[in-house]
Amino acid sequence: MLPVQLIRKKRDGGELADDELRAFVAGVTDGSIPDYQVAAMLMAIYFKGMGDRELATWADAMTRSGDIIDLSSIARAKIDKHSTGGVGDKISIPLAPAVAACGVAVPMVSGRGLGHTGGTLDKLESIPGFRVDLPVARFVELVDKLGVCLIGQTARVAPADKRLYALRDVTATVESLPLIASSIMSKKLAEGIDGLVLDCKVGRGAFMKTRERARELCDLMRAIARAAGKRMTCVLTDMDAPIGRTIGNALEIRESIEILRGGGPADTRELVYVLGAEMLVLGGAAADAADGQAKIKAVLADGRALEVFRRVVEAQGGDPRVCDAPGKVLPQATAREELTLPAGRIAAIDSEALGIAALVLGAGRRTKDDVIDPAAGLVVDAYLGEIVEPGAAPQIWIHHSLSPQDGRLAEARAMISRAFVIDQDLTAAPPPATRILEVIR
Ligand code: URA
Repeated sequence: MLPVQLIRKKRDGGELADDELRAFVAGVTDGSIPDYQVAAMLMAIYFKGMGDRELATWADAMTRSGDIIDLSSIARAKIDKHSTGGVGDKISIPLAPAVAACGVAVPMVSGRGLGHTGGTLDKLESIPGFRVDLPVARFVELVDKLGVCLIGQTARVAPADKRLYALRDVTATVESLPLIASSIMSKKLAEGIDGLVLDCKVGRGAFMKTRERARELCDLMRAIARAAGKRMTCVLTDMDAPIGRTIGNALEIRESIEILRGGGPADTRELVYVLGAEMLVLGGAAADAADGQAKIKAVLADGRALEVFRRVVEAQGGDPRVCDAPGKVLPQATAREELTLPAGRIAAIDSEALGIAALVLGAGRRTKDDVIDPAAGLVVDAYLGEIVEPGAAPQIWIHHSLSPQDGRLAEARAMISRAFVIDQDLTAAPPPATRILEVIR
């Protein structure tokens, strides 16, 4: 089977047979198909798409291109959550221990931040000593013992995706829905899970800019899950404003601990309740979403979720005192500057611009080799629809360890100011009170 024949077939709109798809992915994995032919196939898929059967086989071949974690020794249901990435998205950190405290195991393999969205691993690593590079055997042991463990992807998880993603990145083929769906699902299915809840972000700060496109992605991912015999629920959530009040690694851990202590911003709490409830339903630990939400609220209110998190931090090498005194344990920036918005109604917030401003301050990476400053970031106490009164107290705090002359500071300040659209019409309708747009079960 020559790669050129398969590329031609896809280019001309033909359907690839299962053995053809598997042979192509095998060639991607073992390196026998050169970059230029893989890139040509990616472009053909970009333009011609894939049918459900083709997509399921392609995703399955990607999943099997590396190790699949064997969690069969764990009796509880194993359910994970994946987010397509949002600014200030720290949800996994309070969510995973809360779900585990309700009896469903959460084997979470997360990513690092690249570009304007942060990564769960970088956030966790801002806790002194916390290790995300545990051996798989230890991961399985902790998922069994504590109900949750959070680690990074190993080189042996879906290696086909690693090569495909690197090529997509430089060939303008990242934006293909079947390629996105198979990329995400291959890594999640390799975790050995029984089910997955997808938090599909929609809006200006998200990968999916419209609800229609988000629905299309969810349909493809659900088709892959169905073919693999896994349960899946998709929650479409609004990403037109940053999640919670913090953007930046240590700052987001602090806010996650507020949630685990039963507090925290209302929008962030809502996401934990809704996503957690869906995970409990998939895992058979709740009768329905309302029952699931009540259970999640209970473990956040009475400290059981915080207790699971404390044990996870300790087991993964971190300083568990972070749960009691985050301000003392987490790294602190050397400087904190205020920024006050002009008076008026906050009509729009460009969360992507805020994410990039945090990155410029050191909280994120421009390239995968950049070193991040765990303490850098923003606290944003300004919500969509809120009225800023003349002479109001500052709404934004910039945490950084840059010198006052560093050009990045001025760059970040300018980006933050531009990220807010302030309207003088104070009578406009308030924004929706919920971030949840739709739940697709
Ligand atoms: N995240 C992934 O893992 N893959 C994609 O293709 C897009 C987002």
